[in-house]
Amino acid sequence: MVDESNVRDVTSRVSTAPGGVPIAELLAICGPERVVTDHAALRTYESDGLLQYAVVPAAAVLPDSAEEVAAVVGACHRAGVPWVARGSGTGLSGGSLPIEGGVVISLSRMRAIVDIDLDNQRIVVEPGVTNAQISAAVGPTHFYPPDPSSQIICSIGGNVAENSGGVHCFKYGFTTNWVVGCEVVLPDGSAATLGGEHGELDRPGYDLLGAFVGSEGTLGVTTRITLRIAPAPEATRTVVAYFDTPEQAGQVVSDVVSAGVVPGAMEIMDQLAIEATEAATHAGNPIDAGALLIVELDGSESECAARFDEVVRFCEANGATGVRIAQSAEERLLIWKARKAAFAAMGRISPNFYVQDGVIPRTRLPQVLRRIEELGAEYGLRVANVFHAGDGNLHPLVLFDAAVPGQAEHAEELAGRIVEVCVEEGGSLTGEHGIGVDKKRYMPKMFSEADLEAFQRLRCAFDPEGRVNPGKVMPTPRLCGEVPGPYRQHPLEAAGVIERL
Ligand SMILES: Cc1cc2nc3c(=O)[nH]c(=O)nc-3n(C[C@H](O)[C@H](O)[C@H](O)COP(=O)(O)OP(=O)(O)OC[C@H]3O[C@@H](n4cnc5c(N)ncnc54)[C@H](O)[C@@H]3O)c2cc1C
Repeated sequence: MVDESNVRDVTSRVSTAPGGVPIAELLAICGPERVVTDHAALRTYESDGLLQYAVVPAAAVLPDSAEEVAAVVGACHRAGVPWVARGSGTGLSGGSLPIEGGVVISLSRMRAIVDIDLDNQRIVVEPGVTNAQISAAVGPTHFYPPDPSSQIICSIGGNVAENSGGVHCFKYGFTTNWVVGCEVVLPDGSAATLGGEHGELDRPGYDLLGAFVGSEGTLGVTTRITLRIAPAPEATRTVVAYFDTPEQAGQVVSDVVSAGVVPGAMEIMDQLAIEATEAATHAGNPIDAGALLIVELDGSESECAARFDEVVRFCEANGATGVRIAQSAEERLLIWKARKAAFAAMGRISPNFYVQDGVIPRTRLPQVLRRIEELGAEYGLRVANVFHAGDGNLHPLVLFDAAVPGQAEHAEELAGRIVEVCVEEGGSLTGEHGIGVDKKRYMPKMFSEADLEAFQRLRCAFDPEGRVNPGKVMPTPRLCGEVPGPYRQHPLEAAGVIERL
């Protein structure tokens, strides 16, 4: 069921009066240039990449330093005002959707690269630095492997909060595998360091850094991040193979993994995705192919050479109708340009689309694709498919026309049915885009009441007053110290800060 209270309603959107927001204090901390209260200007922050949801906040602030972030959070804490951190606003699950009557803390001005230590393979950055700037800063000898397709704009602070992935995560792991330390501002405005600059592999004590990474901005705000970086591979070889069906491409992925080959990336796109990306990028992919598979090997020259022919043989053995091997760095970039443009390219074939993000065991791909096709037919909507195939991470893109009454809701419902199928098949509600507001109602499909209770206890340990990004991730408002019993309305619920589903 859609949570109606948050759904975009263009006709009735009104600015929320500042109310209890400590505007004078925020102005004293950041100055008038960096405190936004004008309704029209605040609309910049009303949504993230999940455009179906929009809330105009009471204020937005743009601090320049960790000290200013701490002062802003402290002021909100004393005033009892909820807040949400915002990086670049590219999130696809509503994670940085403002809280009604609350404050948006935008980290976009904190863009310093604080330190680069190539010898120890470390970089220290502020949270507003984009993902792509990190690899650029340490290249060409090194790179930062987690590479979301949004990497030229999304911030590393957002990546940490979402535990973001990307096409190279099958081999290299997700953001959590590359963060060694975070300086954070806790919900009461105090500062803490989680992990450390040196990133010992087994730090004594509880893994609070592990809890923070992927917590979707609900435990505090990170103001400085220390990351591992990797030496750039000596060689890279990239092949694209075309097939009649995505199942054939999926079988190649299984064969490659079973043979012990660990490619840097393995990505599948189906026919609709090829058609859309070709219109946007002219990468030279045949639009009548039923699917394409990109496999990229990286490592030493000898390792790439030894295993590349094997990968091509698996493609041919599974009925590839064509195989294209990148002959130059430019051709490799063009192949990746098509893949990384997949979401945005949907605009070429549909007025609107909804990005879903689920995970399945790799071997269940044929069954799940069949179910997605059946569901698309049942709802009368087209679904394009893009997968991080090595990880079993699916991105079904549900195409719809918001101008047709009811179709947006229909698309959202279909996307929900698809993610339920992922869970039924032994997978997960999300691979990399997070839960946010978008999928919190599905959490009980995957987690028991006891699991959710344990999550809530952790959240309360950081944020006992429930002011940091409330209404996200958890399916129902659970309040710190709440004892089981008959329903009683909480004051935050009465104030419209949290909602009961
Ligand atoms: C075209 C497109 C392609 C994408 N491709 C991928 C992909 O391949 N892989 C992938 O994983 N994601 C992808 N995404 C999703 C999105 O880019 C990621 O989730 C990204 O990490 C969000 O970063 P952001 O800076 O935009 O964060 P925002 O959207 O601003 O915020 C996301 C969450 O992070 C929190 N947050 C932000 N900064 C901080 C901070 N400093 N401290 C604490 N919490 C913070 C927010 O409160 C929010 O909960 C894609 C999005 C788009 C639009």
